[in-house]
Amino acid sequence: MTSSTESRTPVVVVGGGPVGILNALGLARQGIPVTVLERNDGVARAPRAVVYHWATLEGLDRLGVLSDASAAGFLKQDYCFLNWQTGERVRYGLSLLEGQVTHAHNLHLAQDRLVDVALEIIRRDALPVDVRWGRTVIGVQQDDSGVSVTAARQDGTPERHRASWVIGADGAGSAVRSLSGLSFEGLTWPERFVATDVHYPFEEEGFDQTTFVVDETFGAIIVKINNDHGTGLWRYTYCDPLAENRDVALERMGRFFDTVLPREADREMVSFSPYNMHQRWATTFRLGRVLLAGDAAHATNPTGGLGLTGGLFDTYLLIDSLAAVLRRRQDDWVLDRYAHERRRVFQELVSPTASANKRLIFGSTQTPEGAAAWTRVQRLGQDPEAARARLMFTRQLETPAVVTAGARL
Ligand SMILES: Cc1cc2nc3c(=O)[nH]c(=O)nc-3n(C[C@H](O)[C@H](O)[C@H](O)COP(=O)(O)OP(=O)(O)OC[C@H]3O[C@@H](n4cnc5c(N)ncnc54)[C@H](O)[C@@H]3O)c2cc1C
Repeated sequence: MTSSTESRTPVVVVGGGPVGILNALGLARQGIPVTVLERNDGVARAPRAVVYHWATLEGLDRLGVLSDASAAGFLKQDYCFLNWQTGERVRYGLSLLEGQVTHAHNLHLAQDRLVDVALEIIRRDALPVDVRWGRTVIGVQQDDSGVSVTAARQDGTPERHRASWVIGADGAGSAVRSLSGLSFEGLTWPERFVATDVHYPFEEEGFDQTTFVVDETFGAIIVKINNDHGTGLWRYTYCDPLAENRDVALERMGRFFDTVLPREADREMVSFSPYNMHQRWATTFRLGRVLLAGDAAHATNPTGGLGLTGGLFDTYLLIDSLAAVLRRRQDDWVLDRYAHERRRVFQELVSPTASANKRLIFGSTQTPEGAAAWTRVQRLGQDPEAARARLMFTRQLETPAVVTAGARL
């Protein structure tokens, strides 16, 4: 394509992260051609999501992704909270939901691997998805009949795409959102998260495959990613008030790890990345023919793994809603419903819960609020009904598709 030509497609997805690629895959499975514009040369490899909560797995299954994703990752049930000061451990698990839900386990898989799996399925099933790497979207203009999207190639050449609908799945710094004049309300936390991928004999040291270390200084989220290298690869995420860049993060990490992962000879850092943390949401998730999904629509701190969880539930609803509109089975009110409901779920459920999770894990259990929060954690280990209720929470984050004549769209 040259700068003078223009591609035409029903849907342009901006962003080739998990939300963008899964939206493209789902629409293409319904016979709708999609162009994906992604600014990177390939799949982004930074350490980010690992955990897919049980309630999201039915949607991955409907998209035809679950089986390959499960084979690439692994399934697990158990949770552990470790009070770093007292050494007390509280354990409970998804076995409590067996017989009540279809998938009584979480899937662990690094999010770049989930994107790899989805891209491989698109290729294998010859789905009508045209992924264009190295395209940075710099312009979005809509009129009554469609949207024009301008992308810059890596040599700066502009490329124009015309679509009936655009999905902005271009992450928390979304260009689609800002080019549409939408603000991103909320707050940015003063501390940063440092996500590390590390080989370390956590299991020999008594850690469970998902462990929340509760402490003001040494609070951490520890999650096993895979079984490589005998010890397995683990994601160790902690909070650093100063890690504003990689050099500062690396310098402070050495001292931090000497305390929490003291077997230095057995410790091998594979990658790390400091992240700003937000609780933010777009003014609206729909502006005419532009729809926002995933982090472009809402960003949360990742304590409790609710970020991509929300993005996956956006994805499942948006695929069904947009496909129904494109096939003229529904008026576009279903897209207003999408925008309204997904924003409401984020504001009322995801964001407050993720904020409470962060305050618990990275706070003191000595304050009155911290002590009360720890008492609630202890109850999870003692009262199966309390644990069941907590585990069922992620189900509340889903918005069911509109069902017509008894059938899912
Ligand atoms: C340390 C950490 C751990 C996490 N763990 C979990 C977890 O376990 N479970 C969970 O549910 N969530 C987790 N999250 C959150 C999760 O990573 C995000 O919610 C997820 O990445 C959102 O996916 P996305 O596709 O919406 O956006 P992104 O993954 O940010 O993808 C956006 C894509 O858009 C591209 N892009 C950006 N601008 C442009 C442009 N102008 N033109 C073209 N392309 C563009 C980017 O290059 C990128 O590839 C975690 C986050 C962090 C930081």
